[in-house]
Amino acid sequence: MLRWACGTWRRWRDDRICRRYAIPDTLWQLTLARFPFLTWRTSEDQSRLRRLTTLFLARKEFSGAQGFVVTDEIAVAVSAQAVLPVLNLGLGLYDGFVGIVMHSDAVVAQREVIDEDGIVHQFEEELSGEAMHGGPVMLSWHDVDAAGVSDSWGYNVAIHEFAHVIDMVDGAADGVPALRDREARAAWLSVMEPAYADFCVQVDSDQSVPIDPYAAESIDEFFAVTSESFFVDPGGLHQAMPQVYRLLAGYFGQDPLAAPPGRNLASDGRAALAKQSA
Ligand SMILES: [Zn+2]
Repeated sequence: MLRWACGTWRRWRDDRICRRYAIPDTLWQLTLARFPFLTWRTSEDQSRLRRLTTLFLARKEFSGAQGFVVTDEIAVAVSAQAVLPVLNLGLGLYDGFVGIVMHSDAVVAQREVIDEDGIVHQFEEELSGEAMHGGPVMLSWHDVDAAGVSDSWGYNVAIHEFAHVIDMVDGAADGVPALRDREARAAWLSVMEPAYADFCVQVDSDQSVPIDPYAAESIDEFFAVTSESFFVDPGGLHQAMPQVYRLLAGYFGQDPLAAPPGRNLASDGRAALAKQSA
């Protein structure tokens, strides 16, 4: 098929899906009200968010673990937050998985690590979400549901796990998404590696830190956690790590701090930013 014809067909097919599986107005408005960070964008971007959320819902399969029932309200809440990071990158970044498994709450996973002396250590880890290469993505509804409140401290489990999915598109969970070439990768690392190293020093010396200290776990967690902050507490991230904010703004093609006037951002970082630039 010719390239333009292929694009035209895809648009026609997507339009049909959007008409057929349209998210009811009341449900969409409820979702925006519960997760205000979804609204920190222009009305055109919000319309695109709704359209991509509909397409995401049509392409993915939700299931509930241990009898948990995934309602439309839950599926739309998860999908809208999943779509937010790829609003300007496209749903193609999510082609590598289909399943999303919802638990009512966090789950306890049995873990095993072998130390340098070959001794096996077993421990339990509480998971509110998990993303694996090729899927499925696992999420705790309890944590996703709290996203409208937990945004004030930059926490968002759905964006965190979908940032991992984006990171793994090139096959490696290394905190670097698929970029156009080696120069772009080097430029990415020149920002993220020193920021991560500084952050680890702050965490190791028990200083108060502006984002979830879990980001010190590894550089891929640092990418996932800073991505959460970028979307739900952009002022806080910009204030603490302006260079990371700018890098993520360039990659995601979004600038949540440039939200239309009247939007209340989660932290006072925006006010501080305005003062700085005044
Ligand atoms: Zn993680």
